[in-house]
Amino acid sequence: MSAVYTRVALIGLGLIAGSMAHAMRRAGLAGEIVGTARSAETREIARQIGLCDRIVDTAAEAVEGADLVVLCVPVGAMGAVAAEIAPVLAPGATVTDVGSVKRDVITQVGPHLPGGVHFIPGHPLAGTEQSGPRSGFAELFDNRYVLLTPVEGTDPDATARLRALWEGCGALVEEMDADHHDLVLAVTSHTPHLIAYTMVGVADDLRRVTDSEVIKYSAAGFRDFTRIAASDPTMWRDVFLSNKDATLEILGRFTEELFALQRAIRTGDGDHLHAYFTRTRKIRRGIVEAGQDTDAPNFGRSPVRRDGAAE
Ligand code: NAP
Repeated sequence: MSAVYTRVALIGLGLIAGSMAHAMRRAGLAGEIVGTARSAETREIARQIGLCDRIVDTAAEAVEGADLVVLCVPVGAMGAVAAEIAPVLAPGATVTDVGSVKRDVITQVGPHLPGGVHFIPGHPLAGTEQSGPRSGFAELFDNRYVLLTPVEGTDPDATARLRALWEGCGALVEEMDADHHDLVLAVTSHTPHLIAYTMVGVADDLRRVTDSEVIKYSAAGFRDFTRIAASDPTMWRDVFLSNKDATLEILGRFTEELFALQRAIRTGDGDHLHAYFTRTRKIRRGIVEAGQDTDAPNFGRSPVRRDGAAE
């Protein structure tokens, strides 16, 4: 594939930026990839592993002459980065981001950007619980959705070009209104993360009572919660602070359902429980049929031997 952009600047060099760098290289989508991160340590690791063609010390240096700038920092840091790069953005450049919340990023970044620069917010629905410059891999976006939330009046050609980049990275691209995005993600990602954090916190409190049996006998359900609850604390703090309304709305509904299930257990209403679990089982089937997860038992994981190695 020929390059979609001449020079791509990645601001922040963690899981998502690193995976973008690998995926863009895999398909030859960028003439040059320039990267920068806040800490000298991350920049040094990125240099050592050859993550980008060039690693520079500041965001302002990175965006010089770039026709695509991708903000890959936690949501709460987007506004400050936008303020730093705004004076040096090339006319006609596209600025996008990969933040997990969209309305707040638009509010933070939009006002800083000069006229003549295209701002097209985005969110790849792909990730792992790992972070940092070594955690990225080229396949992260394969067959995963990327949601673009262009603001009114955005140049369709600029959007089409960004779409081509993401499709070249293996992703399925769709456009969505920013508020709708935030509500959908509150249901599918943000609230489930909060529930996982809570469950692991509860188990940790209980650990004192059960003398580390929680770890020793951890069953699949709890292990999956611990994986999610190992996600980056800064990123997730920012997600909840910036998607406050939608998360609180979904948490309210969640609490109501939880109370209904609690009551069914207390009153021995097995019909209610069975009907509820039958309905939820269908959702899993839908996700597998949509190609968004494996139908192999236990997510296709190999059984773990007693010495901890995969069989
Ligand atoms: P990450 O691996 O933790 O990397 C974050 C990068 O941002 C690091 O290079 C870090 O620099 C930099 N950074 C952190 N705080 C900063 C600040 N205050 N100012 C400037 N730079 C700062 O994170 P990630 O998982 O790639 O996430 C990046 C973005 O993608 C976030 O907005 C997140 O919401 C979104 N996202 C994440 C996932 C996921 O599953 N991880 C999925 C989709 C979207 P140092 O290394 O120098 O500290």
